[in-house]
Amino acid sequence: MNTELTAYITLACTSGVINLYLCLYVFVKRYNYTNIANIFIVYTASIAMYCFASAFGLMATNLEQVKLWTIIQYIGLPFSPPLGLLFIMKYLGIKITKKTWIAFLTIPFISMVMVATNDLHHFHYRVFEVDSVLGAPYIQQEIGIWYVIHGIFTFSCMFVAFFLVLSRWRETTKIYRTQLISLMFGQLLPMITAFLYLIGYTPPGVDPVPMVLCFSSLLYLWAISSSRLFTITPIAKDSIFNSINDGVIVLDESNRLIEFNQASKGMFPPLTKSMFGMDFDKVWFELSGESFPSKLEIAFHREIKLETNNSKRIYQVRTSSLQQANNSKGLLIIFTDITELKRLQVKLEHQAYYDELTQIFNRRAFFQKCEQELAEAKKYSLPFTVILIDIDYFKKVNDTFGHDVGDQLLVHVVKTCQTQLNEEMLFARYGGEEFVLAWKGSPLSESELLANQLCRHIETQPLITTEGVITVTISSGVAVATEDSEETLHQLLNKADKALYSAKREGRNQVRVYVGV
Ligand code: GH3
Ligand code: MG
Ligand code: MG
Repeated sequence: MNTELTAYITLACTSGVINLYLCLYVFVKRYNYTNIANIFIVYTASIAMYCFASAFGLMATNLEQVKLWTIIQYIGLPFSPPLGLLFIMKYLGIKITKKTWIAFLTIPFISMVMVATNDLHHFHYRVFEVDSVLGAPYIQQEIGIWYVIHGIFTFSCMFVAFFLVLSRWRETTKIYRTQLISLMFGQLLPMITAFLYLIGYTPPGVDPVPMVLCFSSLLYLWAISSSRLFTITPIAKDSIFNSINDGVIVLDESNRLIEFNQASKGMFPPLTKSMFGMDFDKVWFELSGESFPSKLEIAFHREIKLETNNSKRIYQVRTSSLQQANNSKGLLIIFTDITELKRLQVKLEHQAYYDELTQIFNRRAFFQKCEQELAEAKKYSLPFTVILIDIDYFKKVNDTFGHDVGDQLLVHVVKTCQTQLNEEMLFARYGGEEFVLAWKGSPLSESELLANQLCRHIETQPLITTEGVITVTISSGVAVATEDSEETLHQLLNKADKALYSAKREGRNQVRVYVGV
């Protein structure tokens, strides 16, 4: 064996050993590493396989042995470039689906089968024989059609992997750049060597790539030890931008669209990259069918309602200024979907102010609103009426027909009263089966008239239930604060309560007006 060959074998074996070491090292530590380690294990295993088979091939003494080692080589060789690309994609945070795996590994698999069965069809190597001048293990080969496909695919994988890493160079912080360098050269070295081999610039009859892989593997080793390749990996700014739940739209200083994130695409499906450069007003019109509700400026903050795809959404929109690399000022528009929050807020407000059973104001809402109404009545010197209404013998209904029917009756009384009231009147549930009515502007006579009208109406509107027909009556106490009175709401309610008590005492189903001490 000549010294040149010995050198080749030594280098190829060294590559194999380093890759095997990398593979086992990362395998043993895989639980401490991020999940890119798994792809790296398969990647280095495929390279180790390739290198060792290549080294053994160089020790072959006849064509049969060379062919056998070439077939074994192809169990690793065609898989390593796509695995390298997948490794880099995973490293850069690009999502890899099952389909991607299948798409990437189909051609290598066919190449492996093609080489194993080459004698039958000669699609991979048209000619594959021992070099007539140099003898075994040097090979004289002419490539076939599948070799071309395999070659293009192999180069493309390395090329794309290299440029993917390169494209992240600028946005990657300094501490991660050693990692990027090793990843880039890990792709570049075998790619250049394979290219030189193909165009005949390397020693004839021998594939030089396994020897070069020795250097690229050393780079990986360096990256793992010096910059903790598998324990800390950079997160691409793109993935940060796209993982923000708020929709972010970026405009340049002339309010033209220059970028948007994934969340804003989810909020506004018609948003596409083809709109880049378009004036924001125009973009907004295409997204919403209307013009943007106000002028865009820095520190803008407001809610906007938008109806898209039959769903009404509410967004909190705010802006903030953006200093761009070229020193021009852009604008970030941030959309937060607050629809659910608003819905919850409305629901809570409703629960806080409305009685759950009868859906009229509760006692708390009554006091809050009535104080305002009374203050207004005083301000404009208007009389103010309060009527307390209590259902007569309500307990009997509960006792006879059950609590559920009692509830139905409460709702019925409320609905019946509402038919006689107007919108200016405050009507609320004051207690269990007691209600309160208040409004401004009517003199005592009119107020008494309305109270009587309610009494008569309730009496004639029985509730029809499955348990039977229930007729109820109500008693009311009326109190009116005259235009110039300084009475408080509590004093007025006290008077109405006293009047109600008289109505009860004097036989129920009647109205009593408070007439002084
Ligand atoms: P009166 O003519 O003197 O007003 O007699 P009454 O039976 O109407 O008055 P009382 O104060 O003795 O009873 C009121 C009853 O109303 C007692 C309570 O169990 C019932 N009640 C209070 N809130 C509710 C409710 O939300 N649903 C039902 N079904 N009953 C209620
Ligand atoms: Mg009562
Ligand atoms: Mg009662």
